[in-house]
Parts: sequence; structure tokens; C-alpha cells
Amino acid sequence: MVGEVQNYDEQGSVRWFRFASNPDPLIVSLANEFNVGVSYLLQLRHSVGEDEFDGVELHWIEPVETSEARRIWSDNAELETQPPWTDQIDARFSCFNLQCPKEESIEGCTPIYSKGHVLVQFELPYARTLRVIADEYYHVFQDLSRGGDWRKDSDDQLVEAEAAEFADSLAILIRRFLEVRGVFQK
Ligand SMILES: [Zn+2]
Repeated sequence: MVGEVQNYDEQGSVRWFRFASNPDPLIVSLANEFNVGVSYLLQLRHSVGEDEFDGVELHWIEPVETSEARRIWSDNAELETQPPWTDQIDARFSCFNLQCPKEESIEGCTPIYSKGHVLVQFELPYARTLRVIADEYYHVFQDLSRGGDWRKDSDDQLVEAEAAEFADSLAILIRRFLEVRGVFQK
């Protein structure tokens, strides 16, 4: 369960994750459906850079215990020397880390330059999962409409505030989306 895995690494100030398939088919299908709607809302296919953009691809991630991640990382030192999200997400890497301050947890991430690859942690409550997806898709929108460097060069708070504003604006829609599908809470 989320929160039980100790994946914060004081040494590098990072949290460790790996790609995983989501064991809950309901949220997978809800997320796929939501993907279509949010991509449409943000007009992602009509943004600048669409020649390099083939739609958003959602990847589920799970936290990995720091000690286990460190072991995997050092056993595969030549392979796993760098995180796979600078230019692309490479699913060959069995685990990876994301930089964050200790007091923050990471529920989702859209690597800069990932061209539509979005990472979302599974086992979050359903409404929360969809909110995270909305926030992350907004980062895809930022990348496509302003260029990949924009997020890198901009103040983190501004980047996040925009995405949060968009995600918050969908709160009623998300509630209704779940309601009409008979999903009230996980
Ligand atoms: Zn965000």
C-alpha cells in the first residue's frame, strides 16, 4: 500500500520507484477513458510539436524500498547509471529515482522531454488518481505548447501552480465521471 514502503533515500534526496502493471483493472480502464477526455480538453494533439507526439502514454509506477532499490541499482551499475527520464522513458530500467525534498511525496511525474510519457503511482484512491493524471497531462500540455525547455527554465512553483489549477478545475467533472460509472470510492 502507498505510504508503507520506505522509498525515500536520504543520501540522494530521492524517492525510488519502478514500473509496474496496475493490478486493479477498474482504475486502468477508468484512467484510459479519462486519458481520452483530458487529452481532448487540452487539445494535446493540436499543440506545437505534434509531429513528435503520438498521444499520452500512461505508465504505472510503484515505490521500491530504498535498500532494495540501491541493491538493484548497484547490481546493474552499467545499465542503471542514470535515470531514464531526461530524453525518454526507458522501460528496460527496472528502477529509477525522482528527486524530491523529504517532506514531499510523489504521486505522479511527467519527465521533462518525455514527449507524453506520464508516470502515475498506483494504489491511490480513484478520484486522487484521476486528479494526478490531470495534473501530469497539464505538464505535457506545457511541454508541447511552450517547448521542452520551458519547464526546465521556469520556476517550479509556477509550473506546479498552473497544473494544480487545471487539475482542481476538474474536481466536479472527476466526481461526476466516477459517479456515472457507479464508482464512489476505492
Ligand atoms: Zn505537477
